This record gives sequence, C-alpha cells and structure tokens, in this order.
Amino acid sequence: MSVLSCMNVSKLFQDNGFEALRSISISIGEGESVGIVGESGSGKSTLGSIIGGLDKPTDGTVFYHGTDISSLKGGAFRQFRRSVQYIFQDPKGAMNPYFTLRRVLIEPLRINFPGIGKTELENRVEEMVGKVGLPASILDAHPYEVSGGEAQRIAIARTLLPEPEVIIADECVSSLDLSIQAEVINLLRHARTETGASFLFISHDLDLVRYFCDRVYVMLHGRIVECLDCRHMEEEAASEYTKMLLEDAYGKD
Ligand code: ADP
Ligand code: MG
Repeated sequence: MSVLSCMNVSKLFQDNGFEALRSISISIGEGESVGIVGESGSGKSTLGSIIGGLDKPTDGTVFYHGTDISSLKGGAFRQFRRSVQYIFQDPKGAMNPYFTLRRVLIEPLRINFPGIGKTELENRVEEMVGKVGLPASILDAHPYEVSGGEAQRIAIARTLLPEPEVIIADECVSSLDLSIQAEVINLLRHARTETGASFLFISHDLDLVRYFCDRVYVMLHGRIVECLDCRHMEEEAASEYTKMLLEDAYGKD
C-alpha cells in the first residue's frame, strides 16, 4: 500500500480564480522516491503542500496509509504530521533568526517527542548534526551566521530527527551552488538508504530527478502528463513535452 497518495485532487485558488491543479492522482510507495518535474508555475509546490497536508484541495482526497487525511484526529493526526516532513528551497527562511541552530533543531523534536528528556534530545541533535556532516560547534551559531549549504544540512537534520516516513523535498537544492548541490543530494541519498524513508522529490531539473528518483510524474499546467520509470525515461516517454524536457536535460552541457 502507498504511504501517501492522492485521488482526483484539484486546487482552485479563490483569490484569483486560478486552477492550479486539475484532477491529480499520484502515489508514493514505502521506501520509494517519486519525482515531480515540470516548469515553473506548473503546480508542483501546490501539489506538494496538499499531499503533505499543509494546504487543502478544493476537490479530491489525500490518503495516508489508505486513510483520508481530512478524517485524521488527535494522535493519528499528530502521527501523520510527524511522519511527513518537508525540506524547502530556502533553508534559512524556515528558521527563526533569533534561535541558535541547537534550538532550531530541538524545538520541533520536543513537540514530536514530548516524553523525551532534555539531555536525550540534545544528544540526538548532536548525533544527527554529525550525520549530516557538520561539527557540533555549529549548533551555537544562528542561521544567518552559516552558509546556504550548511543551513540546508541543518534543515535536513531537522527533517530527519522526527524519523519521518516520507520527506517532501521541494526544489531543495535550487538555491545552492552546483558543487554544494551534489553534496546535499548525496547526503539525502545516504539518508534514504539509512532510514528507508520515502521521498517526494520536487524539481524543475529533470537530470536531478532522474539521479534521485525511481519514478517521476511529469507535470504541465496543473496536470500530470505522464509517469515514467527513471531508468527507462527515453524509451517510455510518449508526450512531446517530456521529450522536450529530456532534450533540454541533455542539451545543457
Ligand atoms: P511550481 O511549484 O510548479 O512553480 P506552484 O504550485 O507554486 O508552481 O504554482 C502553480 C500556479 O498556482 C502558479 O501559476 C501560481 O502563480 C499559482 N499560485 C500558487 N499559489 C497561489 C496562491 N496562494 N494564490 C493564487 N495563485 C497561486
Ligand atoms: Mg515550486
């Protein structure tokens, strides 16, 4: 069964009457890395927010282990919230600038594991910081005192600490230099192997998606054009749009 899925999800933004998603159905299996690729404005982030429960669809249903997320209450809802974690494009934007990085990491952990004592939480944070390739001394710094790459590693640590089942990564390396992008992607691949977490990997960059994912949904103007196995993209691609994306991906260098 899928960890996360959605059925016939549509999204109409009431303020401007824009239909950002039209009857979208996708699924993310256990341990699977699923990509969403498409040009800017195609609806990728809107879909990511809805399937992770941050925003509501105007139509259609999102399922967590087969249960409609709009019916989740109490402990079941908290379990869903803890199990689905996000990594965004701008890591510092999602951090309180007045907090040390230690506090940035401990606060959500404290909320997710209310029964665990302070020392144990601090130990988990220090261990995780090592796993994402940073020295423990960085925990005393504030977000604005570290580089973009370091901040994204901290954001990844924060994502991994609640032991999620699914990580929704939305353009998570787009703001980084190319060399740092590769390091961060490899860190995520390593984390995936270690934790077995599923990924919804959202990117406008088809090369990146194919490097990271098992399967990819191609989006255009709020619709899914097709779904392809990342190992056989050229052979499977049927739509002109996907073929164009594939040519762009290879024409780059
Ligand atoms: P992508 O992530 O693929 O670049 P988005 O999901 O961010 O695309 O946006 C899809 C479309 O929906 C865009 O045209 C965008 O302008 C529009 N949109 C996104 N959020 C809102 C909103 N809150 N209100 C109105 N329109 C929005
Ligand atoms: Mg986006």
